[in-house]
Amino acid sequence: MATRNAQGPTVVLVGRPNVGKSTLFNRITGVRRAIVTPVPGTTRDVNAQPAEWQGAHFTLVDTGGVFGANEDPLHELVVEHGMRAIASADAIVFVVDGRQGVVPGDEEIAKTIRPMGVPVILAVNKTDDKRARARLAEFHELGFEPVLEIAAEHGEGVADLLDDVMTHVKRSRQETGKDTAAKEEPKETSVAIIGRPNVGKSSLVNRLLKEERVMVSDMPGTTRDPIDTVLRFHGHDLRIVDTAGIRRAGKVASAAAVESLSVLLARRAITRADVAVLLLDATEGPTDQDAAIAGEAERVGCGVIIVANKWDLMKGQGEDTAKRFDDEVRRRFKFLDFAPILHISAATGERTPKLLEMIEKVAKSRMHRVPTAALNRFIEAVTTAHAPVSPGKREVRVLYASQTAVAPPEFVVFTNVATTFHFSYERFLVNRLRDSFGFVGTPIRLHVRRRGGRARNEAAKP
Ligand code: GDP
Ligand code: GDP
Repeated sequence: MATRNAQGPTVVLVGRPNVGKSTLFNRITGVRRAIVTPVPGTTRDVNAQPAEWQGAHFTLVDTGGVFGANEDPLHELVVEHGMRAIASADAIVFVVDGRQGVVPGDEEIAKTIRPMGVPVILAVNKTDDKRARARLAEFHELGFEPVLEIAAEHGEGVADLLDDVMTHVKRSRQETGKDTAAKEEPKETSVAIIGRPNVGKSSLVNRLLKEERVMVSDMPGTTRDPIDTVLRFHGHDLRIVDTAGIRRAGKVASAAAVESLSVLLARRAITRADVAVLLLDATEGPTDQDAAIAGEAERVGCGVIIVANKWDLMKGQGEDTAKRFDDEVRRRFKFLDFAPILHISAATGERTPKLLEMIEKVAKSRMHRVPTAALNRFIEAVTTAHAPVSPGKREVRVLYASQTAVAPPEFVVFTNVATTFHFSYERFLVNRLRDSFGFVGTPIRLHVRRRGGRARNEAAKP
């Protein structure tokens, strides 16, 4: 089904047995293949056919007996296929039987498809019957707009339905085309420059002030030193939070006081930051205190960039100095495996422009939203190739996923049974998400939830 989706837009029909899905399917595709049967619950696998409306081509999928009690041992598989087809569709046509009004089965379906984030068009069928027309208002309760009246058997209302469907398909495809672009561009990016005393924080701030245009400073008059500094870079504002604190820290009291102050400052700064720049002293390599400061950033969900400063002092130490340094960082900061590593010199300005570019990139990643259709094509491909292990008696199947938040990006993966994923499987999924959708330098949270149920593991995952 993933390949079909990759070729063109997909529209799925969902609904209880006997509401008229296959009648509508045949009407739209002009195919007589699907068996029309008045017997509720007859198993039919997911059926897909090419269709066309006013020159626009799409694939129409009838999810058959996906919703509805079934004794067939293969039913679980049918459900799995069906769920994926639904979650990766560009539009859902939810067919209900107008003569019966809203029944619990309809509410169940509504509950399943709503969190998928796919546009839903509610089609009240059999409105050729008087009884159906009398109950139309009820269907607004299901919470989907628009509610369209059709009579699939006679073709009434089907043209309007298709007009509506195609509008949604077009919109969905435009959004999918922008997969790699951030939809919610941050107007301003807040950056915390954190690190132990003497790693070069204030040198870096001074360097940036010298080279970039300083726009405004926060809260004039309230303190002697401005709290933040805002730079303009590539037409985008970068707010360096707690600039005053950074520049003052080196000048106070004893070494011990400075030490704890730097952790305190880091903690305060990152709560206001989108991206934390964790500065390390390249000549000393990563230390435990660096790790403590980095841990704070990851916990609050900041983007993180690891920056080895004073790289000018590392020159002439052999070809693979950078690689050795990075390996050591990766070994020490396992929980920051998502953070890019840069090597700069605040003193000479070497690669500081590159750092600014990376800040922009990480900030964008953190706000990135993956369109539902694209996400579910990804989920299908990845979980088909590598299924999660099933700890219990029942086989764990990944049905679909949806992105529930940005800053940092958060995903919920829906499964057939309540379960938790093994740590390594979660890491695998998160890493694949990163590679596939270009999430750079941002933590990603992942939750696993049974379809229609509550999440079991809500813990933050890097
Ligand atoms: P499915 O199980 O949802 O695929 O439903 P079917 O397409 O098999 O239809 C179930 C029954 O409803 C069949 O007897 C159809 O003839 C009937 N039906 C379908 N559409 C209409 C309609 O527009 N009006 C009326 N009155 N009956 C319909
Ligand atoms: P902070 O305490 O983290 O703000 O660190 P500072 O910016 O005060 O820098 C501490 C010391 O490191 C100072 O002597 C700086 O001149 C020096 N320093 C900072 N950045 C660099 C760099 O890129 N290269 C070299 N060689 N020295 C640096």
